[in-house]
Amino acid sequence: MSVVLPIASHRRGACPTLDAPMQTGDGLLARLRIEGARMTPDQLSAICALAAEHGNGLIEVTDRGNLQVRGLTNTSAAPFARGAETVFKIMRGLVVETPPLAGDDPTEIADPRPLAASIRAASVLLAARLGPKVTVVVDGNGRLNLSSLKADIRLTAIGSNQWACSVGGRSDVILRNEALMITLGHLRQIANLGKHARADDLPGTAAAPRPGKDVSPIGQFALRDATASGIALPFGSSDHKTLTALAAAARRHGVTAFRLAPHHALLAVGATPAFMTEAAALGFITAPDDPRTRISACIGSDGCASGHIPARAIAAQLASRLAPATDLHVAGCDKGCAHPRPADITLVGRPDGYGLVRSGRAGDTPATVLRVDQIESAVAAAR
Ligand code: SF4
Repeated sequence: MSVVLPIASHRRGACPTLDAPMQTGDGLLARLRIEGARMTPDQLSAICALAAEHGNGLIEVTDRGNLQVRGLTNTSAAPFARGAETVFKIMRGLVVETPPLAGDDPTEIADPRPLAASIRAASVLLAARLGPKVTVVVDGNGRLNLSSLKADIRLTAIGSNQWACSVGGRSDVILRNEALMITLGHLRQIANLGKHARADDLPGTAAAPRPGKDVSPIGQFALRDATASGIALPFGSSDHKTLTALAAAARRHGVTAFRLAPHHALLAVGATPAFMTEAAALGFITAPDDPRTRISACIGSDGCASGHIPARAIAAQLASRLAPATDLHVAGCDKGCAHPRPADITLVGRPDGYGLVRSGRAGDTPATVLRVDQIESAVAAAR
């Protein structure tokens, strides 16, 4: 008898998981929280094979560095999940994130992993009372830190025994040995407000602070005993054949592992120049000045029932026209899932064309509505 997994609701506040994939326009989408957020080239090949067998072969790395597989069905989601569990150890419960090079980054002030592991272990029962988006970030404050990612509770190492603890708009300096107890206290307060509560809902919290400066994962990073080179999936998406080819190139060129990283990136540990050349030839972003690093795009009408335009295909078409230091968001509809923040230029798919929003979000009223033949010149002219 086939097993059918529960489906995650598509309402705001829900999160797709391996156990409860989310219905999208191209089938079910499963998000994998891989322990340690790392995989060998063989594991990458294995998940590609599963994505091709059970899904539509599209694979994504999200802005927070999670792996997603698209196009699963009611009957294929369960065998996919069983297969994925043979490839990776999947994490469940409260989301506690650490930077992708945690523990190996010589510039970090403290290794955040032991504290993160303590919080995960101590919050097992509490997690069931928290909403799925509640997130704790434990950041060793190295070169590739997580300061630009939103968190309900953020613990940032600022000294050998001191951590900054931010909850909503409040920030305190706490000692390392207080951090677990204080974090659990804040989580209990959030849980007491109900499953839809976030840290911003706690009494006395101010507006959330502005995110820190974005740190690009595209570049070379010295580790304690190796180097890692960042590459990114264009607009966060690739397919099983391309990623299988990337895994094969990794094996040929001595890449030992990939670390999943924010901003749709994979950090290839031990990458050689020859590997990076192959990755670029496969279409991955390997240069920090690639204009695609400044473009966000959802799958749009290619895989979402709400989409009016094939957002990623349009984003690829517009990349070479984008002015330097300008960021672009191409949204399939006014929900703007790929980039909830303002962008210099936002093109929004509508039933009557392409809404153009300057310095705003996808949901803002567009300055004008363009025809398809007008969008290239409009993007090239906008700065
Ligand atoms: S922005 Fe609209 S089209 Fe794009 S993924 Fe979100 S709901 Fe779908």
